[in-house]
Amino acid sequence: ETTSEDLKAINLKKSATHPCFNGCGSGYARIHLPIAPKCNIQCNYCVRKYDCPNESRPGVTTEILSPEQALEKYKIVKQKMPNLTVVGIAGPGDSLANFTNTRKTLALIKEFDPQVTFCLSTNGLMLPLYAEELAGLGVSHVTVTMNAVNAAIGAKIYKHIDYMGNRYFGEVGAAILMANQMAGLKKLSALGVVCKVNVVMLKGINEYHVRQVVKKAKELGCHISNIMQLIPVAGSAFENMPLTSNKEIMEMRKICGEVMPQMYHCRQCRADAVGTLDNDQSIEFRGCTSEKKQ
Ligand code: SF4
Ligand code: SF4
Repeated sequence: ETTSEDLKAINLKKSATHPCFNGCGSGYARIHLPIAPKCNIQCNYCVRKYDCPNESRPGVTTEILSPEQALEKYKIVKQKMPNLTVVGIAGPGDSLANFTNTRKTLALIKEFDPQVTFCLSTNGLMLPLYAEELAGLGVSHVTVTMNAVNAAIGAKIYKHIDYMGNRYFGEVGAAILMANQMAGLKKLSALGVVCKVNVVMLKGINEYHVRQVVKKAKELGCHISNIMQLIPVAGSAFENMPLTSNKEIMEMRKICGEVMPQMYHCRQCRADAVGTLDNDQSIEFRGCTSEKKQ
């Protein structure tokens, strides 16, 4: 019987063929399958007509695929790209707010290619509910964007959350979201899944709180954190917020590097990214599936 510790060791080994965990020049490729259009929270830096900026470049809109189209696209790309090792679900909304699609896509691809590495990113709201199933579906790497571990700070970042049929605002909403992110990460990590935390560093809001978030992530069993810049989106509540400079991000990564390893090369890829990290081929494969679009 495989214990969660065995599984963690197996999953950590998979990091060696994961372009994001292994570094740019690795030569391995990943594909993001855009099957998750909806989101269940509202971050103040996001405009929902575009892709989720937690894991993607803001201001782009991605065409949504059905799980069947996603499988078809995977087959087409895999045939042309033998170095393709990782399938990621990164929106354009939240992977777990669209769990029916996410589950079906992962199951279809797993059946076709049992060797594949699954990577998923989420805001974490539904993570406690689905953690076990994700591990069972073979998801080895999960990224949660966790911008605060304090409800007063969280309330400045999240406008509201939609949870179990209700909408929660302010500190109440932020507290539910953060509690679920933490419980979910702890659960996943105990199940042997390799966890990463994204932190969007926001001037005047969480810039002095980032280290605490990273410390919490470490306590929860996470392996790496990715401190990111806010790229402001026109029309979002944070549209006119001053930018955190590259230098400030690098300094914060250095400080947090004492707590846990830092990711330095995340490209904030599109929800339909295809290829190696330094050669995006998403345009080439756009609209490559035969079925009628959703
Ligand atoms: Fe936007 Fe992503 Fe936040 Fe949802 S989780 S509101 S898609 S940034
Ligand atoms: Fe990797 Fe970052 Fe791109 Fe995700 S968004 S595929 S972690 S480089």
